[in-house]
Amino acid sequence: MLFDLHVHTSFSDGKFTPEEVVNKAFSKGLNGIAITDHDSIDGVYFASKQGDKYKNFYVIPGIEFGTISNNEEVHILGYFIDYTNKELIDVTQKLRSARIERANKILNKLYEMNIIIDFKDVLKYSSSNNIGRPHIAKALVNKNYVKSVEEAFDLYLSRGKPAYFERFHLSLDETINLIHSVGGFCVLAHPGLLKDKSIIDDAIYKGIDGIECIHSKHTKLETQIYTNIAKTNHLIITGGSDFHGDPDILGDFYVDLEDVPKMKERFENV
Ligand code: AMP
Ligand code: FE
Ligand code: FE
Ligand code: ZN
Repeated sequence: MLFDLHVHTSFSDGKFTPEEVVNKAFSKGLNGIAITDHDSIDGVYFASKQGDKYKNFYVIPGIEFGTISNNEEVHILGYFIDYTNKELIDVTQKLRSARIERANKILNKLYEMNIIIDFKDVLKYSSSNNIGRPHIAKALVNKNYVKSVEEAFDLYLSRGKPAYFERFHLSLDETINLIHSVGGFCVLAHPGLLKDKSIIDDAIYKGIDGIECIHSKHTKLETQIYTNIAKTNHLIITGGSDFHGDPDILGDFYVDLEDVPKMKERFENV
């Protein structure tokens, strides 16, 4: 039961549609994936429909919420969420509007810096209107203002850089409560990327259910360290690739659901 539990689609900043992602995951021999788009659940339905076409392939409904804690971006994954829940849908719609507002602020700031990117240039990269900074970064590359997406983040878009704007987001507490209120498991995403590791203790204190120990950006040592922290605190150990399209790492990072009985149990009840 091999599952890649961290996968993005075109409903956030992923390159492929949910259907394409499911086809790829199946052809790679995975038994399932969790769809975890940034602040969005819209891809889950389409991925599930596509998953139904394959025998013994399963799609776990998920989301990756972006929150801010201790002045840094903290990502929280929700699994087995009820993606038909009205409150959850309302929150994701509010977050989508906030992303549009933020994109306009970023574009205005860039304009002041003589960097001219049109909103419609950005929309070319965001088929779902769920605009993330990677879409703006791609427009900056396309217009030759920067050489790469990374450079766009380094020069303009990362937290603390000139065109960074904070958008409306839930607090860590609110995020955890919301995921729990819609029946989900709450997992701290890629802790290896956190600058301030005290956020891990804080998230545990606030009630997360698991830690994403296995991740494409974690070293072997990091995976070991976070696995130990999860075990000590009786938390679920999860993992996934954080696939966005390029590079093609879908399924290279995964968990065997046999090793995550609490999740497997839920999944059998679906
Ligand atoms: P946003 O959803 O607008 O907050 O953008 C966050 C997303 O941007 C992350 O999930 C990554 O996919 C991407 N990202 C963040 N930092 C970088 C970076 N330094 N280089 C490339 N992509 C990044
Ligand atoms: Fe992303
Ligand atoms: Fe993330
Ligand atoms: Zn992600």
